[in-house]
Amino acid sequence: MTHAVPAPLTGAVPAPIPLREIAPWAIFAGVVMLVLLYLVGIDQGVTSLVPGAMIHEFVHDGRHLLGFPCH
Ligand SMILES: [Zn+2]
Repeated sequence: MTHAVPAPLTGAVPAPIPLREIAPWAIFAGVVMLVLLYLVGIDQGVTSLVPGAMIHEFVHDGRHLLGFPCH
């Protein structure tokens, strides 16, 4: 009994993405992540950029889930 060895996939290697093309998207994703981190974790009290408690209440469960200090 012989075991069939699967042939290596040819032509399935993903093309490398040049840094010049991916850098703007990486920066954009980083900015979005920082904004989300701010809104979920830090936007509270005297550091709040958005008046009122709407942002705080909206992300309150996520805030506790991620372990940010709250109340
Ligand atoms: Zn809380």
